Amino acid sequence: MRDYLLYCTYCSAYTLLHSYDKESGTFLGEYSLLHNEYTRNSVILHKFLLAHLGHTLRTIPSKTDEYMNIICTATHFLENDIDKYVEESLEQVRFHEMDRRSEREIGRVQLHIVEHLLQRELESLTNTKAATPAEGQVLLGKELGIKRAIEVLKEVRSDRQFA
Ligand SMILES: [Zn+2]
Repeated sequence: MRDYLLYCTYCSAYTLLHSYDKESGTFLGEYSLLHNEYTRNSVILHKFLLAHLGHTLRTIPSKTDEYMNIICTATHFLENDIDKYVEESLEQVRFHEMDRRSEREIGRVQLHIVEHLLQRELESLTNTKAATPAEGQVLLGKELGIKRAIEVLKEVRSDRQFA
């Protein structure tokens, strides 16, 4: 896969975009050897764009003499901060993951509470004595409805998406 860099001809400075990820629609961004990971965001790219307002920028593909030449001779933009930016990006990913997990956890607790309430409702219905046959039919209908609701809840809870 092709890598790219963005080069400012005026300052002779560059930032590595690396390869383009079609799925996320972004470049992998700068790479940190320390973390063995890319920024996977546009933070450094955007800083580069702002730092070189009005300058002539060129996007250069890898496997070209120009690409090699720029890497060997030009200034690598924010080179000393790349580890820090990658670390921040990894931190954000971890935070989102935790957030997602706790939201899923809350959802599961809520389902559990609803199921518990339905069970209690069912118990009280079962213990209610009907005064007339018509009332008995109504109670039976309610009971079947609640039983079905509990079944549906159990299906949702056992669904792997929610596990
Ligand atoms: Zn510039």
